Amino acid sequence: MAGRAVDPAEGAPDREALMRLIFALRQRGVTDPRVLDAIEKTPRQIFVDRAFRDRAWEDVALPIACGQTISQPSVVGVMTQALAPTPRCKVLEVGCGSGYQAAILARLARRVYAVERHPPLAREAAARLKALDLTNVTVIAGDGTLGWPEQAPFDRIMVTAAAEDPPRLLLDQLREGGIMVLPVGATDDVQQLIKIVKTAHGPDYAELLPVRFVPLLPGLAEAPGR
Ligand code: SAH
Repeated sequence: MAGRAVDPAEGAPDREALMRLIFALRQRGVTDPRVLDAIEKTPRQIFVDRAFRDRAWEDVALPIACGQTISQPSVVGVMTQALAPTPRCKVLEVGCGSGYQAAILARLARRVYAVERHPPLAREAAARLKALDLTNVTVIAGDGTLGWPEQAPFDRIMVTAAAEDPPRLLLDQLREGGIMVLPVGATDDVQQLIKIVKTAHGPDYAELLPVRFVPLLPGLAEAPGR
């Protein structure tokens, strides 16, 4: 919603809630201290609707505007760890949603470009990232399946919506040696999270874990959803 106050200090987790979340992340194999630190420093409560604020530090996906969801923190952790962004990386995120994943990436990479097909979500995400002084992220409303040709190639690409197959144009925009992480599979079903490393001989695929994401849909969303 336009004009919603974004106060990172409001609704900060207590020590116990934070410890519970870190425990859940470790149980899922998220042990990279940089990733854990980025999650700890990112106030998830400002990325969720006010009504869900007291659940913001639980390891659950929560509804956001336009019928979409903010991912479960442990899945964000697994995806970020698998993507292995370094401070030199230029990263593309497709499916910016609330902006939470983009905020985590912004703390670990040099530059983040995030695309969201729902313009109201893109606007809100940009406002939150600005409120957190994360000036190395740019959010646009657009169709992320087309990538961001003007900024390609990317060192890392993360897709946070599910497609039947990795989008060809995104693979093309990944630098050789680059890494892409995304859920693949039928969108009304459980999908597999996969990690692709683009080698000189072609893409190498590894399966990470079963996940459930909203579908990757073509085109800009026309009317603002609710
Ligand atoms: N990463 C998000 C989770 C978003 S859920 C977060 O941290 O909150 C997936 C998002 O992908 C939704 O907001 C959906 O609108 C968006 N999406 C789906 N298809 C898309 C496309 N082709 N281009 C850009 N965004 C897309």
